[in-house]
Amino acid sequence: MCYLCTVMQEKTYHDATVGDVIVRKSPRARNVGIRISSGKGIVVTIPSWMPYRLGLAYLAREREKVMRVWLRQQARLARTDEATGIAGMNAEEREAEAERLRKEAKAYLPERLAGLARQYGFVFNKVFIKHNRSNWGSCSTKGNINLNLNLMRLPEPLRDYVMLHELAHLRHPNHGPAFHDLLDRLCRDCTGRSAREMEKEIKNYRLI
Ligand SMILES: [Zn+2]
Repeated sequence: MCYLCTVMQEKTYHDATVGDVIVRKSPRARNVGIRISSGKGIVVTIPSWMPYRLGLAYLAREREKVMRVWLRQQARLARTDEATGIAGMNAEEREAEAERLRKEAKAYLPERLAGLARQYGFVFNKVFIKHNRSNWGSCSTKGNINLNLNLMRLPEPLRDYVMLHELAHLRHPNHGPAFHDLLDRLCRDCTGRSAREMEKEIKNYRLI
């Protein structure tokens, strides 16, 4: 899910069945990788030196396997859409729902974040409520934390997990092993479940 933006080169293609397919060049990638994201659709990561068309060709070869995973994910998203009351909403209704969530988020999230920060010994600068479809939260180098109003559609433990993720970035502004160790400790203490489990579960929700 996260967030400390690394600027990458990418191209978005449109696929008649799955919608957006992003082919992204990553300086760290040695091989081609395919990820299915609840927000962004199918993301093919390729090494920087590789032409975009080879990323697409790789996806075409793996298509059957990718489609199986994609269909399972669509079914999971449909279930959480239903559970969070957004199933079947048109764009206008979703916008109205987002405004309702914004009010809820403003009343709840800053206070909860401050509570978690106090409990686990973090000091952040400011907190902002954001509405975007790319991330659940983010943490800036100035120590500001942005939280997506969509958090109000998540069960409480998942909401806490995202806030702990951002708080943990105040100590480790990366996704290295020390960051993951810290986040896992915080997550187990706060929710009784592992960070890995939470990371997996949050993928079943989409951002509106
Ligand atoms: Zn992160």
